Amino acid sequence: SSKNRVVARKLSLPETEKTGNRVTVFVRVRPISKKEKEADSRCCVTIVNPRDVYLTEFVNPNGYLRLKRIRRRHFTFDACFPDSATQQEVYSTTTSELVEGVLQGRNGTVFCYGATGAGKTYTMLGTVESPGVMVLAINDLFGKIKTRSCDGNYAVHLSYLEVYNETVRDLISPGRPLVLREDKQGIVAAGLTQYRVYSTDEVMILLQQGNHNRTTEPTRANETSSRSHAVLQVVVEYQVRDAAMNIIKNVGKLSLVDLAGSERALATDQITLRSLEGANINRSLLALSSCINALVDGKKHIPYRNSKLTQLLKDSLGGTCSTVMIANISPSSLSSGETQNTLHWADRAKEIRTKANDANEDLFPVIETGTDQATLVLELQKENR
Ligand code: ADP
Ligand code: MG
Repeated sequence: SSKNRVVARKLSLPETEKTGNRVTVFVRVRPISKKEKEADSRCCVTIVNPRDVYLTEFVNPNGYLRLKRIRRRHFTFDACFPDSATQQEVYSTTTSELVEGVLQGRNGTVFCYGATGAGKTYTMLGTVESPGVMVLAINDLFGKIKTRSCDGNYAVHLSYLEVYNETVRDLISPGRPLVLREDKQGIVAAGLTQYRVYSTDEVMILLQQGNHNRTTEPTRANETSSRSHAVLQVVVEYQVRDAAMNIIKNVGKLSLVDLAGSERALATDQITLRSLEGANINRSLLALSSCINALVDGKKHIPYRNSKLTQLLKDSLGGTCSTVMIANISPSSLSSGETQNTLHWADRAKEIRTKANDANEDLFPVIETGTDQATLVLELQKENR
């Protein structure tokens, strides 16, 4: 795919779409891995222009090595990033606008969604050499504050927590599980460290340490559990005096969420809320889907209370908050099932904004198979009411 390099560029949205509740949805394809190459897998993802992606499904008739192409599905998003996209490109297109909003006292949230190994943590945290969205956002924030600090006082605090098996833990100062409490400002995790930060350099170290503190599966030491959600929240407080010398305080919050692997979200066919606990299913991920579905459908009641993750993000999802979804996918045919699920989910999330316009013309016929995630989640929602 690096042959015909496509650079994702965000479309300038009409003014009407810039207000209120909207979700912008992006797709990022990671480079094919050594393992995938060695397994002789085919590339099944094609980005044809900055907005359109095709997923090709292959079958392996009679067990022959030669794969046969059976169908192609077409999806349109706000932008699609090919494997050659840089961290900076991904940051600028998806998140820089939210950082600007936070400085003006608004809330913004970025989620990375996708199967384990699809590139969520790389996109969010990145490496020391190629820092991801979390670090680039804070860097940008400090840069912007520097040029503006003459007209007020800014304070930046961050907290980094994990939701694992419906238990909330501080990733910066790990210890006992944290209890969620409701106070005047909304839901807070009691005792969560609010770390005051002054420079980007300390942030990368802090976040790397935090990431090491994420829960690992007992069987796979050193590897972050695919069921762990990591939530970084950056709170920007800004004080300024008005003409009458009254102090005016603005608070904006940016939430950056590295979600658990989506492959387990709906692992069974017959899913009910009651069977959730027993099954190996991620309640927070499912509850997030229900909330997004309720927002898509324009529901008055958004079921935030169903999980720890959605409780924590209550003021950062819906309302006047801007939400960004980055769907991470592998290009390999070995993962085409997961990729299809991820793209379907992303397609659904996109409807919050595209309901009124943007007809999605399919160049290739789409053959529906069985019950998809969206249908299952809708069923779950009905049960919840
Ligand atoms: P996830 O968090 O979704 O489970 P990771 O972010 O850990 O997946 O990615 C899996 C592997 O692929 C890691 O070794 C990571 O460094 C690599 N990787 C993912 N995305 C990219 C990318 N865009 N460029 C280079 N390497 C990537
Ligand atoms: Mg990860």
